[in-house]
Amino acid sequence: MGKVISIANQKGGVGKTTTAVNLSACLAHLNYKVLLVDIDPQGNATSGIGVEKGDMDRCVYDVLVDDVKAKDVKTSTIVSNLDAIPATIQLAGAEIELVPIISREVKLKKALDEIKSDYDYIIIDCPPSLGLLTLNALTASDSVLIPVQCEYYALEGLSQLLNTVRLVQKHMNHDLMIEGVLMTMLDARTNLGIQVIEEVKKYFRDRVYRSIIPRNVRLSEAPSHGRPAILYDAKSRGAEVYLDLAKEVIVNGERVR
Ligand code: ADP
Ligand code: MG
Repeated sequence: MGKVISIANQKGGVGKTTTAVNLSACLAHLNYKVLLVDIDPQGNATSGIGVEKGDMDRCVYDVLVDDVKAKDVKTSTIVSNLDAIPATIQLAGAEIELVPIISREVKLKKALDEIKSDYDYIIIDCPPSLGLLTLNALTASDSVLIPVQCEYYALEGLSQLLNTVRLVQKHMNHDLMIEGVLMTMLDARTNLGIQVIEEVKKYFRDRVYRSIIPRNVRLSEAPSHGRPAILYDAKSRGAEVYLDLAKEVIVNGERVR
């Protein structure tokens, strides 16, 4: 059965999409079968793995709102072993259109349950909010991986996210776990980043990944080429550290089992 991991933080620009794309691609590179689910209306994860939004007649919107089956929406990608359920801007309406629908928080879970056994990992890229789309992701997930940017206000807003996780655990998904906290965009030239990491470790302790994602220009260039870093420049520091992260995620999963 595939393990479902949401990449979530309601703050924008902390590296969720970069992590979803590159973690998925690295797990696939390590020969695991992976499905990347984009539930951010921006669709950046979709284009980040080279799926042309213009070519799609269906997207995750149809799964959430119109009960189209996940297997009928998924597509292969330029990365072998990696499939995707894409998002288009149509998804922007889903947050409101889902409101009157019965069992609106379990739509994604029900859809993914049907194809879970085809994959080792299902990675969900969440939007920068704690609305119904993120609730669907957390309800569908075994765990949540939280990217935290190495900057001064890093911890701000995390208590809100953790409250949401607790609410989901209480009402929708008792088994939801914190997969780990990933420090992103570390600027090695300043001390601030290191101080922030220490601060976050005081709170999350061994749940903070040893792999720390540096600020890396290749990671920011790769999306405009529709490629994860491991395809765009496998020797870049960014690609290497995301590969390390993928190995950590695999080993942690084996320890829990
Ligand atoms: P989110 O999905 O949380 O909004 P993104 O992953 O889209 O965040 O990242 C925000 C911006 O920062 C993007 O332009 C992305 O290319 C860039 N970025 C993300 N991680 C890095 C990194 N480690 N080094 C350099 N640029 C990065
Ligand atoms: Mg994003």
